[in-house]
Amino acid sequence: MNSFHSKTQAVTVALILLSPLAGFRLAYGQTGIDPPAPILEYTMTVRLDPAQRLLTGNATIHWRNTTETATSEMPFHLYLNAFRNNRSTFMREGGNQQRRNILEEGQWGWMEITSIKVDSGDERAQLLRFIQPDDGNDDDRTVVLLPLGRTVGPGETVRLKIDFIARLPHAFARTGFKGNFFMAGQWYPKPGVFQGTDGWNCHQFHADSEFFADFAHFDVTITVPQGYILGATGREILPPVTHPDGTISHHFIQARVHDFAWAADPDFVAITRHLRPGSEATPDLPPVDVTLLLQPEHAGHEERVFRAIFAGLRWLGTWYGPYPYETLTVVDPQQGARGAGGMEYPTLITIGSNWQAPAARLSPERVTIHEFGHQYWYGLVASNEFEEAWLDEGITTYTTGRVLDREYGQRSRGTSLAGFPVRGYPLLHLPPPPETESTGIRPTPLGIHLPPSPWPEDLKELKPAEWLLLYRLGLPSSSLLGGFRDVPFLTYLPDLPTGAVDGYRASYLSGPRKDRIQRTAWEYLDRASYGLNSYDRPALVLATLERLLGEETMTRALRTYQQRYRYGHPTGREFEQVISEVAGRDLGWLLGPLLRGNEILDYAVTSVEARELPAAAGVFGLGDERRLRGQGNGLPGQPPPAPAEGTSEDQEAARYRNEIVVRRLGAVAVPVVVEIEFEDGTVIHENWDGIYAWTRFVYEGTRRVRRATVDPKRVYAIDLNWSNNTRTALLSRRPVARWSLRFLLWMQNVLTFYSGLA
Ligand SMILES: [Zn+2]
Repeated sequence: MNSFHSKTQAVTVALILLSPLAGFRLAYGQTGIDPPAPILEYTMTVRLDPAQRLLTGNATIHWRNTTETATSEMPFHLYLNAFRNNRSTFMREGGNQQRRNILEEGQWGWMEITSIKVDSGDERAQLLRFIQPDDGNDDDRTVVLLPLGRTVGPGETVRLKIDFIARLPHAFARTGFKGNFFMAGQWYPKPGVFQGTDGWNCHQFHADSEFFADFAHFDVTITVPQGYILGATGREILPPVTHPDGTISHHFIQARVHDFAWAADPDFVAITRHLRPGSEATPDLPPVDVTLLLQPEHAGHEERVFRAIFAGLRWLGTWYGPYPYETLTVVDPQQGARGAGGMEYPTLITIGSNWQAPAARLSPERVTIHEFGHQYWYGLVASNEFEEAWLDEGITTYTTGRVLDREYGQRSRGTSLAGFPVRGYPLLHLPPPPETESTGIRPTPLGIHLPPSPWPEDLKELKPAEWLLLYRLGLPSSSLLGGFRDVPFLTYLPDLPTGAVDGYRASYLSGPRKDRIQRTAWEYLDRASYGLNSYDRPALVLATLERLLGEETMTRALRTYQQRYRYGHPTGREFEQVISEVAGRDLGWLLGPLLRGNEILDYAVTSVEARELPAAAGVFGLGDERRLRGQGNGLPGQPPPAPAEGTSEDQEAARYRNEIVVRRLGAVAVPVVVEIEFEDGTVIHENWDGIYAWTRFVYEGTRRVRRATVDPKRVYAIDLNWSNNTRTALLSRRPVARWSLRFLLWMQNVLTFYSGLA
């Protein structure tokens, strides 16, 4: 039944039998490193009762104290209790919904420890106490504390034997069931992370937080009814064992991961491809067996999902180091189990997307590469998702964008109506921006794409009020009218090709000043701000770094970070240190304000003037050389001289005083380049430290300035407003009038539409 079960396992089985530890070595094999003694070792069995959505399990957990500090207690995450009732911290913070899902009668989930013993001691379940270290919410039962009854000193190990039962909620947030699809994530009691003198790090489950755990060896036997197709973290090491009661057991192991998830569904279509070194998909990378568990109706997307996975394996492997595990399982949740989709667990990811979307939207590809990217950022480099969500989501968003740009090139982000794309109508007949430059296109909530630059000069000369309307016009998505933003009638402009940075910018511009990036996940102003500051804004900071340092240096910096902290728990400070170290200079001046401040970066050319200098007039020279030039009064008592005929002064070419003013409009100060173009075609580049509020460049001579641009290469991808980066000297009033007229007509059209709704 398990179609991804291969014959080569017979050999594996023989090896396994030689030594109980051999399995871990196998799961470990291709790294070429001897496994260190893990902090945690789990041996677990679990049985799924699909009718009751019940998991019955037991776990033997060895925990080793690798710090210099002793402890006599141990907290456990019981994540499923977030779905126990509507009083949990998760439900309260999330307004009882997550990704537009809500839990109803009969869909709640929970977990209970029915027995827990320390070493060979007596029952201690009665000593368990729920704690709420983050918010003191007495109703929250996502963290439970066990007094160990003894002290575990540095280097010592404690063994826990736990029996537990858990009911999976309806697919809601990263875990749960739908019909006969079961996604078992966070299904077992998981110890917190002991940080020595800082104590245990074991946060409650929040609506906007994910996870944090130590690396472990897992040995898990999962029993499901026959007919269920199973996928899990790690490698299945023994042939499945069929039981007389109609169930079947699968045995998986995996070393050096910090979580273990599994999924079961009798309808899965399982397709495995064996990536081998030298294959076209992954040259020079270690072998990986990739298994897709697709819903039958999505089987046609097999090639697209594989291509995305291979792109992830190839590019992330090449840039940041090979994916070190032997397996990768990709789970496609059942229709209606959206809450369990788009999630990363070690060596197992869940996808799920708008499958109707046309290929150009890269709908399954994006989520597939994103969740695979998490194998690196959070999977292998296990930063704390509670306290620094941007470290995994932001870096993953950035690297996903890199892979998408590299693998698929520019793509379109368009308006869609009920999931179907809607082509815009090019009412304004604007020329498309050059594809070579990143355009910073911002789709407004009305579905209208407005590239701030580089559009026709006359459009850029719109008055500020007009720009405000054009550029800032939008409806909050929560407003009554927000739902109409996808109405095709309002989509006047056609899709324009965009790259990853355009997407980050579009998101960033929706709330650039709400919060800072570096913040505990549940302490952002609102959920949108959590998303913005964990995903797209840090990705924009990283894109800025890439442009500042160069792609090669940036890749080396992330690779160094990945290699140095693989199987570790780095913080944002350590990330910053690595970036500065590899860049060869301290980048604190940039990273500090961008990661730990909520101020914005915005430089603007506010004035470009070329004033013609009048011909020389007045007294010039000294003594005998003193003479009067040009028109005007002469020396006292002398008549005004007649203009000298045929002198060289008269034939002097016109001279200009060119003044360019560049201002810093945001609080974040960075050095910038200013590019000044003259009408004779010459171009000057000036460097400005960007510190004071403004600077002025003055050039006198026969050249006339035509245009000035601050940050012409768009190095600062995080610059709030690119439309003010360029200014042209000569204003032609007529185009402005033309655009204004069109704009008013357009506004009238929109307003007529809305007035018709009342
Ligand atoms: Zn993510």
